[in-house]
Amino acid sequence: MGRIQGNGIALLLDLDDCTGCFSCEAACRETHRYPYEEDWMRVVRRDPFLVDGKLRQYHLVAPVMDKCAACYDGEHEPLCVSGCPAAALRIGSLADMAREAEGRHCAIYTA
Ligand code: SF4
Ligand code: SF4
Repeated sequence: MGRIQGNGIALLLDLDDCTGCFSCEAACRETHRYPYEEDWMRVVRRDPFLVDGKLRQYHLVAPVMDKCAACYDGEHEPLCVSGCPAAALRIGSLADMAREAEGRHCAIYTA
């Protein structure tokens, strides 16, 4: 119900800004020190494609949102967000993230 009302936690990725640097993946592992075989955040490279004769490549992130909901205290940005060199990640309520995504090329993940 909270998610329907926009109160659930959401992670926003700006697909145009993300460079696929893998820093968020490293930041999550560094923060939580989970075992190597676990994977709470992963960067996924998409296939490159041509736009006006130039190569373009998008990346996606694959967060485990239950972990993110427990990680985010509602005030302090997690290291995956604050450490993203492209400022491509944001975390907050679903309603806020949906507002931020308006008119942009974003992916939104919800818990
Ligand atoms: S979201 Fe940010 S930190 Fe993660 S791969 Fe993209 S640019 Fe790098
Ligand atoms: S919000 Fe926390 S648990 Fe989720 S990817 Fe970022 S550092 Fe990892």
